[in-house]
Amino acid sequence: MNGKDYYKILGVSRGASEKEIKDAYRKLARKYHPDANPGNKEAEERFKEIAEAYEVLSDPQKRKEYDSGGMFMGSPGGAGGFRDFGGGRAYTFRSGDLGDLGDLGDIFNLFSGLGAGAGGGRRRAARKGEDVRTSVQISFEDSLRGVSVPVSMRGHVACPTCKGSGAKPGTLPRTCDTCQGRGTVSQNQGLFAFSRACPKCGGRGTVIDQPCSACGGSGSVEETRRITIKIPPGVKEGQSIRFAGKGEMGPPGSAPGDLYVKVNVRPHPYFRRKDNDIYLDLPLTFTEAALGTTVEIPTPLDGRVKLKVPAGTQEGHRFRIKGKGAPQTRGNGRGNLYAVARIQVPRKLSAKEKELLQKLKELEKEDPRRHLAG
Ligand SMILES: [Zn+2]
Ligand SMILES: [Zn+2]
Repeated sequence: MNGKDYYKILGVSRGASEKEIKDAYRKLARKYHPDANPGNKEAEERFKEIAEAYEVLSDPQKRKEYDSGGMFMGSPGGAGGFRDFGGGRAYTFRSGDLGDLGDLGDIFNLFSGLGAGAGGGRRRAARKGEDVRTSVQISFEDSLRGVSVPVSMRGHVACPTCKGSGAKPGTLPRTCDTCQGRGTVSQNQGLFAFSRACPKCGGRGTVIDQPCSACGGSGSVEETRRITIKIPPGVKEGQSIRFAGKGEMGPPGSAPGDLYVKVNVRPHPYFRRKDNDIYLDLPLTFTEAALGTTVEIPTPLDGRVKLKVPAGTQEGHRFRIKGKGAPQTRGNGRGNLYAVARIQVPRKLSAKEKELLQKLKELEKEDPRRHLAG
């Protein structure tokens, strides 16, 4: 055990519920998040500690092991190694846990900034770069037409000086002689043999005698990347789009992670979307609805179209304009546009109007409340 009191770090009691732990973590993560404390080393250290504590206490199995006093002997890399590839511990954030961290701005910096140090040892071969999550906001029209959006991501990329090897240019990492490159060593404790990360190489399997000065031997540097992504036509509010291989670089020789972009669509002043259909309220005066008329209405993608409103149109009637709705994200089909009749009753009447309506009223033969008569 590395002697850290994870409960104290999160400020919760030993009997704290999962929710209490999550709430405490969110509160502290917001306070000490690197984005909220740029350049503040102390906050960064606190943040790492908080993340480490949460990783353990949020996982019932790990928490049990921690409570029983076993496990969590600090790995050689320790908390400080967590930005290094292959070194030390992994801090994995599950998106659900982050919930309402949105007030930090781009909360997903959290993922890109911390994700790189995946666990060492046996899992090494299967690893790839971390997935990166971000969000963009686009207009309603762009969501239908499709649009290219620039996205900037803070994350790890291969160090340009050592090409990701971590070794000083002109030198090479060599196989670790303590673990023969396996990254793990066995240790006998009583009846059991434990496998743990190699203390010499931190699970990497290689050691670097002369580290690259640009990246300190980690093989990666953090930088802000700007890429342009193409949002396909027809994307819906809240939809996430995956861009394979556009996430963070992985350890040398592995595939990069994926980029997930959540699309937020700004509401339109008068078009509303439901599945692939689009709705538009069409105000009509009482006389237009009664006598019939032809009106011109906007469509989201096809300019203006003429619409014939027949005499006797009722409130709430939906006129279907076929195929003028949202494009399907898969396939070539399109939804419909619906113009919904909204009959407007005048709020103010001129003397002349009043007189004419009065006359009209006298001509009315039908009682609209006949069926309610007692
Ligand atoms: Zn380097
Ligand atoms: Zn080793």
